[in-house]
Amino acid sequence: MVCSLCGSKKHNLRTCTLPGAAQHRSMHRELLKLKGAVPNAQAGRKPRRLGAPTTGRFQAQRSLRYSGSGRAKLRKAVANKKRAKTVGLTQTSDGQLQAVKDLRRDGFLPAKPLKCMTCRGPVGQMQLRAKGHVWVRCIDTDCRVARNVLSEASWLPDVSRQPWTPMQLQAALRLSTAGFGKQASTPYALARSLGTTYKPTSRFLEAVRSLEAAASEKLNARTMLDKAVEVDGTCLRTLRVSRWSKTYANSVQEWQAKHAHQASPDYFLLHLRALGATQRGTQKCVFVPAPLRLVPAGSVPPPESCEDVLCTRLLKRIRSQDRVEGLGLRNIGLQ
Ligand SMILES: [Zn+2]
Ligand SMILES: [Zn+2]
Repeated sequence: MVCSLCGSKKHNLRTCTLPGAAQHRSMHRELLKLKGAVPNAQAGRKPRRLGAPTTGRFQAQRSLRYSGSGRAKLRKAVANKKRAKTVGLTQTSDGQLQAVKDLRRDGFLPAKPLKCMTCRGPVGQMQLRAKGHVWVRCIDTDCRVARNVLSEASWLPDVSRQPWTPMQLQAALRLSTAGFGKQASTPYALARSLGTTYKPTSRFLEAVRSLEAAASEKLNARTMLDKAVEVDGTCLRTLRVSRWSKTYANSVQEWQAKHAHQASPDYFLLHLRALGATQRGTQKCVFVPAPLRLVPAGSVPPPESCEDVLCTRLLKRIRSQDRVEGLGLRNIGLQ
């Protein structure tokens, strides 16, 4: 880099700071244009970057944010933001009473108000209390015991019945099932849209999920498949099992017996797999856990074999067994 005007080795003509340099440059450009040698020296060049150069600055910022103490700070800020209470749901008095009626209609509360817990007598009309809670009171003049309507929701754990208003409970039910089959709702996200906090939301989701799980188990147990059935397996989780593990001692012994001439590795991998069978063209499917099988560390999950399918009794759930596909089961004479 040598300046063609002043001969300095620290810059070139384009950045020369001599008093007449700018004029020299424009005359030089004109001259080149007249000569037709260079039609436009800047044609096709990458446009100049706007603003001050930022070389390495964002990288430095990122390393401050994502490593060391900066990372802890960032995580704390994100966690605090998640936990922050928001306004969330708009609640009205009429809405609360309507929500109780809807919950009774949909089976999340008993169809009729339960009797008074103290005297077993009938209870009166719903009353709206502070913060949108709905209560009922025993009509017996000597008893007059009142209770929150949501205490009747026996499917929720005790601690989760009271903190929410009927509208919040209804909205929670709607929001937690809206993403069904797509994305599981998280307690934080749900709490933000309801305007509540983490704990009641996470307890609610736990209760809903255990109900869902029980219902799915029931459905899974009574589903029968027919006609064209496809079987496949998937690995849900992988555990590391030590060669000296007590919990999986049986499986380790089994492996050692099978591979008598092979030295046992220090640890094995245990792939927790599920086998599923589905009837083609329908939504019906049956899931069973695959039998536990150890593999030496570093190897791939065991492929789903006929042996696995046979010992899970998956085939008992299939009515006609002449077309089971996916594992080459047709070859083992299932008819
Ligand atoms: Zn110069
Ligand atoms: Zn009573």
